[in-house]
Amino acid sequence: MKETEKWHAKTLGEAACAALKKNGFAALYMDSASQAADWIAAQVTTGMSVGTGGSMTLASLAIHDRLEGMGARVLNHSRAGLTPDEKMEVMRAQLTSDLFLSGCNAITLEGELYNIDGNGNRVAALTFGPKKTVVVAGYNKIVRDMREAEDRLELVASPLNNKRLGTGNPCTKTGRCADCHADTRICKVYSVFKRKPGKSDFTVIIIGEALGY
Ligand code: SF4
Repeated sequence: MKETEKWHAKTLGEAACAALKKNGFAALYMDSASQAADWIAAQVTTGMSVGTGGSMTLASLAIHDRLEGMGARVLNHSRAGLTPDEKMEVMRAQLTSDLFLSGCNAITLEGELYNIDGNGNRVAALTFGPKKTVVVAGYNKIVRDMREAEDRLELVASPLNNKRLGTGNPCTKTGRCADCHADTRICKVYSVFKRKPGKSDFTVIIIGEALGY
C-alpha cells in the first residue's frame, strides 16, 4: 500500500475508533491483519470456546486454524462437511461462547455498526450472549453515516456476498440490490448498533487494509 493510502486508512480508522469509543465500545486501530490476528490470539487460552461469524475478513486473518492450534474450541458453522443439524448446533453454541469473533458490513464515522444477516445468528451473537465480543473490519468498511452504510450494503457488500455464495439472486446479475423476494435472499435481518450493548464486553478492531466485502 502506498504511503498516501496508508495515511488515509489511518486517518479514517482512528476517527471511526474515536467515535466508537464515545459510544461505549473499546476500539483499536491496527495497521495490518497480522497485528489484529496476534491481538486476538493473545485473548485466547486453551479450552476456550470461540464462536466465529461467517466473514471474509476473519478468513483473511487465518484465525480459525491458529486458534485451534492453540487448543481453543472453535465454533465455526461454515466448516466443510457439517450436516444442517450440526450447523444449527454450532450456531446455537456460538451464542454462549467465551469469545465471539465477527466481521462487520459497515462502520460509520459516527461510531455505529451496521450488519445484515440471512439467518440472524451472527447479529444475535453480536447482540448478547458471548462473554467477550471482537469485531474486525478493514478500513474499507468505514462510511460517513447510516445512509451511506445502507448504500454500501446495497451496492457492494450484499451483491458481492451473493456472487461469492452463488445464490443466483437478482443482485448477482445487476450488481445492486433489488429488494428481492427470493427464498435464497441473504438480507433478512438488519442490525444497527447505535451504542455498545449494555452487558457486553465489546471491542472493535479497524485494520488499515481493505479486507472482506
Ligand atoms: S435483498 Fe435480494 S437482491 Fe438485494 S442484495 Fe439481498 S439478496 Fe440481493
